Amino acid sequence: MIKLSARISMLLSTLLFISALLVLLIVWVSTFRFVTEQLDRKLEVGLNVLEQALTDREQMLVNSAQVLTSDFAFRGTVATNDRETIGSVLNNHGERINADLMAILNLEGAVTVSVGSDVTQISTSFIEDAVEKVMWQGSTSGFVSINGRLYQVVLVSVNAPRPIAVALLGFQLDKALAQQLKMTTGLEISFVVNNEKTNDVLSTLGDIEYSWLESTLELTTWHIPYVRTGKYTSTELSLKSTETSRIGVFLSESLDEIYQEFDYLQLKILVVSLVIIPFALFLAFLFSRNITRPIERLVDAAKFISAGEFKSEIKTSTQTQEISDLENAFGSMQKALLVREERITHQASHDQITGLLNRDAIICEAQVRLDSNTEGFRLVGFCLINIGQINAVFGPTVADDYLCKIGQELTGHYACVARISGGRFFCIPERLMSASEINDQCELITSNIEESDLNMNADVRAGFVEPSSDLRDAAHMVSRLHITLDGSETEGRVVAEYEQGQEQAYAARLTLVENLRLLLNNDPGSELQMYYQPKMHLGTGEVTRMEALIRWFDKDGKFIPPDEFIPLAEQSGLINDLTEWVIEDVVRQLKNWKQDGHKFCVAINLSAQDIGRPDMRPFIHSCLEKYGVSPGELILEVTESELMRQPEQAIALLREFREEGFSIAIDDFGTGYSSLAQLKNMPVTELKIDREFVMKLTDDNDDKIIVKSTIELAHRFGLEVVAEGVEDQGALDLLSDLNCEWAQGYFISRPMAAHALQEWLQETEHVKRA
Ligand code: C2E
Ligand code: CA
Ligand code: CA
Repeated sequence: MIKLSARISMLLSTLLFISALLVLLIVWVSTFRFVTEQLDRKLEVGLNVLEQALTDREQMLVNSAQVLTSDFAFRGTVATNDRETIGSVLNNHGERINADLMAILNLEGAVTVSVGSDVTQISTSFIEDAVEKVMWQGSTSGFVSINGRLYQVVLVSVNAPRPIAVALLGFQLDKALAQQLKMTTGLEISFVVNNEKTNDVLSTLGDIEYSWLESTLELTTWHIPYVRTGKYTSTELSLKSTETSRIGVFLSESLDEIYQEFDYLQLKILVVSLVIIPFALFLAFLFSRNITRPIERLVDAAKFISAGEFKSEIKTSTQTQEISDLENAFGSMQKALLVREERITHQASHDQITGLLNRDAIICEAQVRLDSNTEGFRLVGFCLINIGQINAVFGPTVADDYLCKIGQELTGHYACVARISGGRFFCIPERLMSASEINDQCELITSNIEESDLNMNADVRAGFVEPSSDLRDAAHMVSRLHITLDGSETEGRVVAEYEQGQEQAYAARLTLVENLRLLLNNDPGSELQMYYQPKMHLGTGEVTRMEALIRWFDKDGKFIPPDEFIPLAEQSGLINDLTEWVIEDVVRQLKNWKQDGHKFCVAINLSAQDIGRPDMRPFIHSCLEKYGVSPGELILEVTESELMRQPEQAIALLREFREEGFSIAIDDFGTGYSSLAQLKNMPVTELKIDREFVMKLTDDNDDKIIVKSTIELAHRFGLEVVAEGVEDQGALDLLSDLNCEWAQGYFISRPMAAHALQEWLQETEHVKRA
């Protein structure tokens, strides 16, 4: 079957239906109008003819009466007043002119003689009125009813030569007259005498037909237009009558005949309607089957889809092109939604980068094990600490690739593996895993990364948490594992286990970080301050160098040690802002000292993140320019362990610093397990022996050997040596003997504020001079 256009089929069926009904209606109305006009005209003509016929008859009767009254003998008889003679004369004349009723009235209207029907039945008012008219005009006529019979009466004056009496002649209206009038007018004739109680009828119609006519006459004026309301239609001619009885003549036309054509037409319209309606219904059915019902099904399907039910098949079995297109579009939409929902569901529980589970999913898995008290269950976490660095230096594609490789490695060993964020992976082992096994896993991941062509050190840490009675739920366990990993990072442990109280300490650290963030964003100078610790030249005893060390006295004046907040600033990304503040403060101080005539060289501590930042150099240069300070007046201190962790790009940055005239010192030397040979290629100028080896130098022989060999080797590489943590004269002397260039420690001076340092310098000058 050809697929009908929905719009066309709908339009067609509606138009067809409406136009057919309209045509039928117009034919109906115009035919009805035509028929009624014809009828009205026929009745009007009939009425005129009837009026004329009655007038002619009246004239004829008046003439007959006048012939009678002008008869000499008749007048003589009336003048005699002899009732008997008058009676016989009336009889003779009456028969001659076919009068049914005859009477002689005196001039007062009283009946003198009468023959035929009972004249006294005629109302006196009619008689008086008629007699008066006769006196004036010689004759008059009218209609009266006597004992249910209808008469046309004529009254004529009897003159001798003056009027002496009035002759009354009555002619009964009978069926023959009615038939005659019917012949003349072509309409049914009904004379109706409307008495007070009854109606006297003389009609050409039979009794049954007349009762139909009566029912038509009784109809109310309103009826439904263009609908035939009875069997006859009539018009009335009122006749001269008495006050007690109203006499009228109805001219009626049977509607049956005249409406015959119209009724036939009506039938035809009915038949056509009966044909059209089923046809329209059929079209409606077709429309419903092809459009309405399929649309309903699609609406149901849309409801299912909105309720998240994507799998049920949409089938409308339509024959309509548009609906079929719509059905296909629905189908495609359903499929697309299904795919999208599956993707969303997957995304809700999986990590985008590695395809592993995500945080929510591992929480669910852990909760299942917690609820079922799975034996030996622990949550293990791994963290590739320097993922940020890999990301910054090699780009996100390489970093993502490494995350995927770690994920694959872990998937082989754990029941569930999830990537939480950054370089953090949380796993659920199938069995109880010891700390050393976890450690091995860490080393494996580390070596896998280091053996790749990245050519950089991987810093992988691990931690684990076991269920305990104070654990609320799996989400709490996950949060504890984060804390443990953070701890392993700051404390430098490869594998850490969650310890009681770590949460509280973590919360305190969080508060500290928040306070530091607020401080750096608002007014760092209000609580932060730079202290300076002198470095004394062991050859000359002069103090021309010093190390800038930050001090934080919070708003309550409480001292917060840098060892506490610097690692937190590094972890929370605040270190960059902090270092910038330190650099600007120190360079400004250098300018002030310069103005006061001092020529100092100040060491600034940089953290690993500072070295990796490409915008660090431009920042330092802009500061130096701003305050008129040269690179030679700054020493950049980088710890040994951080320097060893730096990838080549970062080392290249340091080299550029070196080439620009900055001095670079290796801080805390001896703690990072690096060999001096590794330092050969590093762009450093100075080596700071860690205070751990110096503080007990006087008493500890091992330390003496370490310090001695370190100084000798450093000198061989052309590096100056600074010994930190000089706390007594013995150490100072020994270092002097070992040709160490610089000494720094409490024995010389504690770190102090700039103005205190100036005072101190003046005092020591004073001491020296003394
Ligand atoms: P560091 O760079 O090794 O600084 C030397 C630390 O040793 C200072 O601790 C100093 O007060 C302390 N010290 C100096 N002489 C002696 C001594 O004779 N005996 C003992 N026991 N200690 C001595 P401080 O100021 O508490 O700083 C601790 C660490 O905080 C610094 O270690 C450094 O790593 C970091 N730090 C301090 N200020 C800054 C800064 O402005 N920026 C950065 N990135 N780190 C800083
Ligand atoms: Ca330092
Ligand atoms: Ca140090």
